[in-house]
Amino acid sequence: MASGIIMSNRTLAINDRVYDYLISASVQESEVLIRLREETAKEPLANMQIAPEQGQFMALLVELLDVRRAIEIGTFTGYSALRIAMSMPEDGYLICCDNSRAWSAVARRYFAEAGLADRIDLRVAAALDTLNDLLKQGQAGTFDFAFIDADKENYENYYERCLKLMRPGGLIAVDNTLWGGSVADPDNQEPDTLAIRRFNEKLYKDDRISLSLVPIGDGLTLARKRHKNS
Ligand code: CA
Repeated sequence: MASGIIMSNRTLAINDRVYDYLISASVQESEVLIRLREETAKEPLANMQIAPEQGQFMALLVELLDVRRAIEIGTFTGYSALRIAMSMPEDGYLICCDNSRAWSAVARRYFAEAGLADRIDLRVAAALDTLNDLLKQGQAGTFDFAFIDADKENYENYYERCLKLMRPGGLIAVDNTLWGGSVADPDNQEPDTLAIRRFNEKLYKDDRISLSLVPIGDGLTLARKRHKNS
């Protein structure tokens, strides 16, 4: 990896004041999204919900790519799924994977309130099983977009399956790839940190994709599946 590069034009260190400004100057949320975000903020695991500016960024990516078929791994209470689904056309199709019945029930309630339940196929099961089923059904190469945000030790497994499921030019977005900054601390040998570090190293060397690690939220890696000859 490139190392030892500290440049004056590096990404801005965002303090609370700048962050508040960024939110107030750019984040636009529908009433349903605000309610879902506020309800989820009361959950003990509320920090599993993506930041609103990240949700809006992903929604823009979905628009740019004209995403019609998408996969989400790790839906939690549904905020990111709603952002994705809202940016898809009426015939859009989003498969959501989560293994929690309780969180999925919250997500389903909000999908219905947003009028998007018919666009979202939420499968309460182990995500690897769902992805393997899709591959067995011959759906490789048929998806435009994937968002991976589940157990970190399976990131490589999710990524490999998603890469097969993407069409050439399709985009995989992967959450938490800066992991609170712990990936940059060599003394941090926690299993999740090791898994994300290993995952980042793998993608850095992967010539099947074009790569960018965007420092939004907790780090969002974008991996676009290359066309064969590019
Ligand atoms: Ca996350």
